[in-house]
Amino acid sequence: MQATQYIWKNGELINWNDATTHVLTHALHYASGVFEGIRAYKTEKGSAVFRLNEHIDRLIFSANALKLHLPYSREELINASIKTISENGLDEGYIRPLVYNGYGALGVGTQNPTEVIIACWDWPKYHATDGGLDVKTSSYIRIHPKSTVVGAKICGHYINGLLALQEIQGTKYHEALMLDAEGFVSECSSANIFIVKDGVIYTPGLGTILPGITRDFVIKLANDLGYKVVETRFTRDEIYNSDETFFTGTAVEVTVMRSLDDKIIGQDGVNPVANKIKEAFKKVVTGQDDRYSDYLTYYTK
Ligand code: PMP
Repeated sequence: MQATQYIWKNGELINWNDATTHVLTHALHYASGVFEGIRAYKTEKGSAVFRLNEHIDRLIFSANALKLHLPYSREELINASIKTISENGLDEGYIRPLVYNGYGALGVGTQNPTEVIIACWDWPKYHATDGGLDVKTSSYIRIHPKSTVVGAKICGHYINGLLALQEIQGTKYHEALMLDAEGFVSECSSANIFIVKDGVIYTPGLGTILPGITRDFVIKLANDLGYKVVETRFTRDEIYNSDETFFTGTAVEVTVMRSLDDKIIGQDGVNPVANKIKEAFKKVVTGQDDRYSDYLTYYTK
């Protein structure tokens, strides 16, 4: 990660190196924070953030799920996100707002003053391969809706994904697939999943997944391209037997799965539906499709 000049903290831009926090901060001990990952793109009409409003709405939803008092309005958080990336002079990159339970008492249930930061940095390529991802089913199941608010982007949830990723570290696999408690496909550590079978697209419904902002958009985009998209439960065998499988997420955008548990999906390298969606997605985020211009928030450096 390449440092930028400023981080927005509690209402003002401060120097990157000054954006520190006390070691007894509640969130450091109990992962009592919520965050977002947002992406800005270079377009022909200047730089633009993709679905900024929706990301801030999810941030607010997540903060509410943890009863974190947010001292800033939706509008203020949107403006602060733009200010952070623009003042740092980035014409593309990643924006990371984080809202966390701050310093004070350390009882698990304690509500200390909320801290809010927004940082941004240049975007490194998330996966080093272009040939589709080799994926392994994790031995860890996805977080359960009876244990937590699955639809919120809570810091603590990421231990589940981290453990799944640690299992494949040092192996040839790029990603870990997580199943839910009943054995149905849920999602990956930071991406949602779609399969294609006989021209129809399927994706797990909400419940055991993060409601991805890219997922939601890809459903719309696929519909607009004339595909039928069905939100339903499916097993990993249906991934093995799918014609194509792909991931969506802010980081991975639209990325093909090449194999699952060493089984090549469909015909290796033949992904007409995923590629069509990927291309259409790229056009939208780089401002080349005016039908979706409402999804972009333009800014100047
Ligand atoms: N699932 C998880 C667990 C994630 O962390 C992410 C990334 N935020 C996604 C799915 C994809 O969500 P989005 O499209 O909003 O980035």
